[in-house]
Amino acid sequence: MGRAMDFKVATLLKASSGNKKLESVSSTIKADWSEFKCDVDGSVLLTKTDVGVWVSACLSAKIGRQCGNCLDQYVESIGLGIEEEYFPLVDLITGERNELEGSGEDNFYIGEDNVLDLSDVVLQYVSLHSSINSKCKDYCKGLCIDCGINLNKEKCNCRNNYKSTKLAALLESFRPAN
Ligand SMILES: [Zn+2]
Ligand SMILES: [Zn+2]
Repeated sequence: MGRAMDFKVATLLKASSGNKKLESVSSTIKADWSEFKCDVDGSVLLTKTDVGVWVSACLSAKIGRQCGNCLDQYVESIGLGIEEEYFPLVDLITGERNELEGSGEDNFYIGEDNVLDLSDVVLQYVSLHSSINSKCKDYCKGLCIDCGINLNKEKCNCRNNYKSTKLAALLESFRPAN
């Protein structure tokens, strides 16, 4: 699954800067932080820069989620506009390891096999752009606190019974004593 969003960029890395390559994406990836899979579709424009490859991706991601309210599974659709530069770990011409300035956690690298793997950055964008509250819909009714049924799908009488009995008892208690 980790290889689902790989692009071979050896030819592009040998080309002069400004050269472009357009790829389309349709794959499924899996995040460590989610039990659900993520379907990704769209297009990826790869442009050779002076030092690496610039990625401009226009993707739509569909990630499975569980509603925090009614516990049902649903799919959240997220539009992703990715703009990131990838740096090659190894110089393709000389075969030497590149001394990369400011190399750190925030940068993305092209592996020694000259494969650009987009899945990490896609999952980062998905986790940043997916809504914090997992709710299957704005008007999710959730679960009945008394009998546990999903109120989006079924009705129960718990509330009504509760209301009528409690209200009756309450009214009774406020009834002025004669
Ligand atoms: Zn729900
Ligand atoms: Zn109920």
